[in-house]
Amino acid sequence: MTSSFDLVVIGAGPAACAAVSVLSGYAGKFALLTGDTPTAMQVRHPKIASVGLERGKAGAFTDHARMADGPAELFSSAEAGGLANFWGQQVWRYASADPWPQDGEMRSWQSYINACVKIEDGFRITGGRSLAKVQGGGVSLDVMEPRLLVGTDIEPDAELNAVPNAIVARLSRLRHSVVIPARVKALAPGPQGVRIILEDGSMLRAARVLLAAGVVGTAGILTRSSGDFAEVRLRDHAPYLLKTVFLGRALGPWLGRTGPSFNALSLMMKSQDRCDIFASVYDLSRAATSLVSAGFGLGARLPGRRARLFPSFIRPVQLWTRQSQAIATCSLRHGTVSVMHAPQPDADPALRSFRAFLRSHGVPATVSTTAFGHGFHHHHLELLDRSGTAHAVDDVLAGQFANRVRCIDASVMQEIGCLPHTLTMMVGAAARTAAFCD
Ligand SMILES: Cc1cc2nc3c(=O)[nH]c(=O)nc-3n(C[C@H](O)[C@H](O)[C@H](O)COP(=O)(O)OP(=O)(O)OC[C@H]3O[C@@H](n4cnc5c(N)ncnc54)[C@H](O)[C@@H]3O)c2cc1C
Repeated sequence: MTSSFDLVVIGAGPAACAAVSVLSGYAGKFALLTGDTPTAMQVRHPKIASVGLERGKAGAFTDHARMADGPAELFSSAEAGGLANFWGQQVWRYASADPWPQDGEMRSWQSYINACVKIEDGFRITGGRSLAKVQGGGVSLDVMEPRLLVGTDIEPDAELNAVPNAIVARLSRLRHSVVIPARVKALAPGPQGVRIILEDGSMLRAARVLLAAGVVGTAGILTRSSGDFAEVRLRDHAPYLLKTVFLGRALGPWLGRTGPSFNALSLMMKSQDRCDIFASVYDLSRAATSLVSAGFGLGARLPGRRARLFPSFIRPVQLWTRQSQAIATCSLRHGTVSVMHAPQPDADPALRSFRAFLRSHGVPATVSTTAFGHGFHHHHLELLDRSGTAHAVDDVLAGQFANRVRCIDASVMQEIGCLPHTLTMMVGAAARTAAFCD
């Protein structure tokens, strides 16, 4: 049986959450496809494995691809809430010289900030206060409380359930909405709109579609929808990982005064109102034991316990710079990833500056890079035709579906800043949704 809708949103992660908040009061026949799939794939990323163990249910992932001879790995979320069911909860607003999206009516930085305020409405956010400035090695860093999305108005301590819960609350403001726990195989142009082919072989019709399946999910749908594109190219802003000891020598007074979160402190180096270094300082003694055991390669173990006895003089720091960007091509049909460009720690001046800061305080550190895909700051998706020519997602959709399908997730963000990008992606998704439904 075929059902018809005026508007369908594909996906149920943060991008879809932003879209639904803009559609408040929408009177047409509306459906949200969550991408839930019964065949959950196991992922060994430490945070994902730990969260899965703690909540008693492994995450559902699909559209998987892996590097033949290296650690790079890509997969798409396959459940309501998306990757935000596993994320670090950091929501930061970009500064005026960071690459905020200039979509639709959003032409000034103040209009971007106003849009952030609207997206944050209904969520409970803690932290974000500036604590101090610290200096050393010719570098000045802002020490901040991490700005964390910890719940919603209705459920203030929802933590990792905040995004899926917010979607449910926002959907209740639509007049005729239905949630369909199904996964899209492909899209095809139809007589009066778009045919949405589901993985079980059934079909929906929609006058218009918003594609919010996350970058890897969107890549999967678009490559299955057309024989023209064999591969995709995408970017991941994957951080460096510094293992530091005696970080207290540099940040002493502030390390002792942080809140209860595993995310202890955020550090920023700014120049001309642009963030050139963003660092997350973690406190393993506040982490779940399962996260620490998974991080040490022992698998997620001992649910429900905190790693309180973990020595606090060892501090992992994740560090994003303007150069810690990686680019890869990927074939989701063949499950292969090939990394074209990876961050070069020895050639990154911002990383050098940060290490000079640590050295000036007598803080030893080792540096490693994050495997492509495990940065989870995916963006700038392009589809590669058989001659290897890259096509932007907007152009592919305009060519195949006229103005009936619009992508709103980070696939369409050509650039992201050093700060965690999801709030900014949601602002762009809301602006694109508003312009599409005008
Ligand atoms: C461990 C971890 C830590 C992170 N920490 C942070 C952080 O602190 N701050 C930050 O800003 N960002 C963080 N991120 C990144 C953040 O989670 C993502 O940027 C964000 O979730 C992307 O939102 P999205 O809606 O575009 O995609 P996703 O969250 O991937 O959601 C995609 C949705 O689409 C659905 N879907 C996919 N394919 C299909 C299909 N074929 N048919 C139907 N539906 C489909 C999925 O089921 C899902 O509901 C982190 C991510 C991880 C994994």
